[in-house]
Amino acid sequence: MVVLESYRGRRVAVLGLAKSGLAAARSLLAGGAEVQAWDDNPKAREAVVSEFALVNLAEIDWRDVAALVLSPGIPHSYPEPHPAVVRAREAGVEILGDLELLGRAQPDARYIGITGTNGKSTTTALIGHILAEAGARVEVGGNLGTPALSLAPLGRGGTYVLEASSFQLELIPTLAFDIALLLNVTPDHLDRHGSMEAYVTAKRRIFAGQEPGGAAIVGIDDEICRDICGELRRGQPARIIPISVREAATGGVYVESGWLVDAMNGPATRVLELASAERLPGSHNWQNAAAAYAAARSAGIAAEAATAAICSFPGLAHRQELVDTIDGVRYINDSKATNADATEKALACYSDIYWIAGGLPKEGGIAPLKPYFKRVRHAFLIGRATEEFAATLDGSVPFSRCGDLAKALAAAHEQAHRDGVADAVVLLSPACASYDQFANFEQRGDRFRELVAELRAGRAHSA
Ligand code: ADP
Repeated sequence: MVVLESYRGRRVAVLGLAKSGLAAARSLLAGGAEVQAWDDNPKAREAVVSEFALVNLAEIDWRDVAALVLSPGIPHSYPEPHPAVVRAREAGVEILGDLELLGRAQPDARYIGITGTNGKSTTTALIGHILAEAGARVEVGGNLGTPALSLAPLGRGGTYVLEASSFQLELIPTLAFDIALLLNVTPDHLDRHGSMEAYVTAKRRIFAGQEPGGAAIVGIDDEICRDICGELRRGQPARIIPISVREAATGGVYVESGWLVDAMNGPATRVLELASAERLPGSHNWQNAAAAYAAARSAGIAAEAATAAICSFPGLAHRQELVDTIDGVRYINDSKATNADATEKALACYSDIYWIAGGLPKEGGIAPLKPYFKRVRHAFLIGRATEEFAATLDGSVPFSRCGDLAKALAAAHEQAHRDGVADAVVLLSPACASYDQFANFEQRGDRFRELVAELRAGRAHSA
């Protein structure tokens, strides 16, 4: 834990008591601050009633409060600010997030920040892996995994690799990243930001305050990021490194004919055939790999060390995670794919797919995936989306109504082994939220893993 000493003896309000808020409250308390904490959810309050002074922050006197630490999930502007935020603003109280507090408590460390609509977690974990493999002192967290203030203190010579959501970026008034990455921007979370413009403004914040020694790494394969890259070129003091999987990005890192190409320093050099990075399948992951490579090089890691670590990356759970291979059939857990967009990335990677799909459907369903249907040998439908997905598949893909994940996996397993095609893949990529049958996508993916382990054990028994 990073102890926040600078608020000793002062009153600090913490609003939102989920993982990151709790970590912040504990760091403040450990550093001698007087913490006043609140969460609108009574269950969240009950869980910490013995630990913190709980007070409704919409009703306190804000005059002598030193700061409001806000969880990224709480609206501070759109659709309307939380009442406590209004009161804090009226009283001129500074409003911060946990990343900002980490930056202030550990000013001598190096900061690598990663944002984008998709690929943040993968890229964050990959950069952490490359740095760790190279022997660097590194801590990885933020929006991914460990909250910022639960990370270890690193001091000079250490590096924090932080995934930053757009909401978190709105809460870092002074933290400047030494190395900042913006992967891509597509419409998302407009419910929270109100407009695309506000969302883009939040994402751009990743590059604020950068200095000449720093690096601004930008994906240029979507129009919005390409524009941002153009703007950065007109005044960003940090070095700008464009990333592309579509074109030869001058001065950047790009992918050409399946090779990672480093053109950061003079002549373009092919540094890695990306097919050898087994846990980073698909061109979306190549974008992540190219960006991570650029970040690692900017952090002083040698090219060979960076590419070797890209190949040894174990991958993240629930994102096209290879769970097992049983008699030549691969079992892949892509439970994180909660919409058609994410599932498209997985379908594009394989050719003989036994596809487990369904759950709580999103608007548009799986109709956008029609171009990939020819890769699907059979679909195994689960959850509330069953009839809607059945109607979309009807006539182009054979399907079964399976009800739940256990039955779907048993049926997919059975059929994949019966068909005996080379390269068969049993793929859980639901294109749906999980809430009709699971607490979250993690639980759904964990269940898939357990069930595959049972299949493997069954094979061992019958062998
Ligand atoms: P995030 O943390 O931004 O949600 P993840 O790394 O967890 O991103 O990946 C989530 C899903 O997004 C993956 O399962 C994949 O389908 C898709 N994805 C990953 N990287 C990219 C990318 N660079 N571009 C587009 N989609 C991506």
